[in-house]
Amino acid sequence: MSDRSAVMALIGAGPVGLGLAKALLEHKIPYEYTDYPMPADYPDFPSRQQMLDYLRDYAQKFQLTPHIEFNTKVVMALPLADGRWELELASGEKRVYKGLIVCNGHHWDRRFPNYAGKFEGEFIHSKDYRTPAQLAGKRVLVIGGGNSACDIAAEAARVGKTARISLRRGYWFLPKTLFGIPALLHEAWADPAAQGHRAL
Ligand SMILES: Cc1cc2nc3c(=O)[nH]c(=O)nc-3n(C[C@H](O)[C@H](O)[C@H](O)COP(=O)(O)OP(=O)(O)OC[C@H]3O[C@@H](n4cnc5c(N)ncnc54)[C@H](O)[C@@H]3O)c2cc1C
Repeated sequence: MSDRSAVMALIGAGPVGLGLAKALLEHKIPYEYTDYPMPADYPDFPSRQQMLDYLRDYAQKFQLTPHIEFNTKVVMALPLADGRWELELASGEKRVYKGLIVCNGHHWDRRFPNYAGKFEGEFIHSKDYRTPAQLAGKRVLVIGGGNSACDIAAEAARVGKTARISLRRGYWFLPKTLFGIPALLHEAWADPAAQGHRAL
């Protein structure tokens, strides 16, 4: 058993884990990304590669990389009576830490619904969608109404033979941009005090 009781364990080096690592290094909470904006030449909706580059730059800039143990899966986390945590790694190694912060994400693990009957066509998860070419000329049914679903349905409508979207309940759909500005950045939506100016 390796005793690391002087340090905290942080599981996950996604956007949340990196932000927290930076906060821990600086001994200040809460963390913010506002001190490392995305490059000015990035589009409003960056590509997957641009996001990856940004996160790598972020880790480099704040010297987080040396603190990350890559390819190290935690398979067990056990709280000890004295408040410390015992972690077991996939390698079988066991370590004891002062505390534990879990930033393991929840979207990376594909979840498929169970349906009665048998569907013979291609059935993919949004995590496996890369390019509109995957939809070209096909009759596409998108299940769900989240952000990824709407993005994919919009591309299916452009390149597919047909595009349908299936929803469990009613939704309010907002365009990604209003007057050329991302909808989330509109003050009237973001600031309750500005609600009176909502007549866009
Ligand atoms: C298909 C898809 C499309 C998306 N599109 C967008 C989008 O357009 N815009 C947007 O803002 N967001 C999008 N998201 C959401 C975005 O990816 C997440 O909100 C974001 O990644 C969450 O960050 P996180 O740090 O919490 O988790 P993650 O980014 O999931 O990071 C978690 C990390 O923890 C590691 N980990 C997990 N378990 C263990 C373990 N046991 N031991 C060690 N390490 C572990 C994982 O390997 C991973 O590196 C999308 C997600 C998906 C799946």
